[in-house]
Amino acid sequence: MRVLLTNDDGIFAAGLDALRTALADLAEALYVIAPDRERSATGHSITVHRPIRVREACYNDGHCRGWIVDGTPADCVKLGLESLLPETPDLVIAGINLGPNLGTDVLYSGTVSAAMEGLINGVPAIAVSLADHGPVSGEVSFAHAARFVRRLVPLLLRHRETLPAGTLLNINVPAGSPVECRITRLGHLRYANAVTRRTDPRGRDYYWMAGKPFSPDGHDPDTDIGAVRNGYISITPVQFDLTNYTAMETLKTWLVNRSNC
Ligand code: MN
Repeated sequence: MRVLLTNDDGIFAAGLDALRTALADLAEALYVIAPDRERSATGHSITVHRPIRVREACYNDGHCRGWIVDGTPADCVKLGLESLLPETPDLVIAGINLGPNLGTDVLYSGTVSAAMEGLINGVPAIAVSLADHGPVSGEVSFAHAARFVRRLVPLLLRHRETLPAGTLLNINVPAGSPVECRITRLGHLRYANAVTRRTDPRGRDYYWMAGKPFSPDGHDPDTDIGAVRNGYISITPVQFDLTNYTAMETLKTWLVNRSNC
């Protein structure tokens, strides 16, 4: 098994190290390609208006090759599959992200987008997030999330033919030591007071986006948000086909009634 690891928290993130350690003896080849700094919430952006610089990352365990990229998570996977890697991996794993990637937040997520980039290029992928921001200072443990990935990876590779094409698994592991998982759908996340306006020391306005998340359907245990809230590991199959097939039929009825279509 050949695995490409990436993330959006940057090459030095503890969550990436936890994955690398957990999979070291499971994968016959383990490659790491990650951004040189945190690139959280950069979504699926790619770098096309400037050159991208790459440096090799050296690990002293001798088991793994790595590259540090001054680009986005999607850049990392694109570069890996098209140029850096000596072989096509069997799996792309993005994470372990520090913080949840739930519901509509997957659209902002660099972690999920990195996995999606693998999928777009025909490589099965999973995105893994620790649904916990941890203490303001101090260590966060990724150990149980990493152990779960270690158990899931052989299962995914064994059954991947049965998974519909163009589908990745978005996994969120709550804090604590959850043992049970739920198969879920993406919930809906919104942010209250998302934009704060302040004044800088030179008297000019600036804006800071943060806000308090709330979910109109987070009480539903079938959503990823509901599952994590109830202490379960959430696994959501996510596809890159955003087409609304029901709406296609509705649109066709509009156009049938127009003489010029
Ligand atoms: Mn992140």
